[in-house]
Amino acid sequence: MEIFREVKPIRAFLEQFKNKSIGLVPTMGALHQGHLELIKTSKKENNITVATIYVNPTQFNNPIDLEKYPRTMDRDILLLSDAGCDLLFCPSNEVMYALKSSLTFDFGQLDKILEGKFRAGHFSGVGLIVSKLFNVIQPTKAYFGQKDYQQFQIISNLVQQLMFNIALECVATVREKDGLAMSSRNLRLTQEMRARALVLYQSLTFAKQLLLDGMEMAMVREKTIKLFEQKEVKLEYIELADRKNLILLNFVVDPKESVLLISGYVGEVRLIDNIFLA
Ligand code: AMP
Repeated sequence: MEIFREVKPIRAFLEQFKNKSIGLVPTMGALHQGHLELIKTSKKENNITVATIYVNPTQFNNPIDLEKYPRTMDRDILLLSDAGCDLLFCPSNEVMYALKSSLTFDFGQLDKILEGKFRAGHFSGVGLIVSKLFNVIQPTKAYFGQKDYQQFQIISNLVQQLMFNIALECVATVREKDGLAMSSRNLRLTQEMRARALVLYQSLTFAKQLLLDGMEMAMVREKTIKLFEQKEVKLEYIELADRKNLILLNFVVDPKESVLLISGYVGEVRLIDNIFLA
């Protein structure tokens, strides 16, 4: 696997793949099977696969979260090369923000709800860094996880608004055996916190059944709050939304068109998850 830390050399290297398909998998590192599933999908569909590892400061609304974000670069490099990734771009802050950026993004309603409501400026930072990565790598197709479903919707919107000539794919969430969504932040959980964290997935599956049985979100939320209280996990939100545009819903109209999203704090570790209703 070729590793690049600067923009010019990776651009020069990618010149030879101008007429080939390039798959891009942007990550913040601390890689797990979820990330590797994106690499695998990209490898199947493209001539070459480029992974990026960059912990982007402008998308962190909480400085402690940024400071404590797990960084496991040596292990990540081994995992990526074992997975057959062709190129890794892992720039420094000096490279990605050589010119201090004044650009901000406003995604309208899409970034005022769910994650956007609780993480001010987060999606503006995501929009900025993903645009930069798209410009540097110029991929044919980019791969994102369903685990960050709102992020996928934001990036779809970004691609349409800025007319990037890039296809997008949303890859299903990879879970631990007991259902916990794989996440780099899981590395911050002690064994005891790890057990409590399962309440996110358990609540999603429980709530899904209640909603499919016709219960309204207000009542489902009450029941979820109780589950969270039992596990001493702080519920931030549980919301039902339209899969296409994330407009929030009070009850299920069409299960095929619905997604249930959740977020909570296990101690100071913030976790998110979501499931489709069908
Ligand atoms: P991150 O490093 O957390 O920014 O994630 C990089 C990419 O991997 C994003 O597109 C995530 O949605 C995706 N991802 C993270 N966790 C998972 C998972 N458990 N299953 C599938 N994709 C994931």
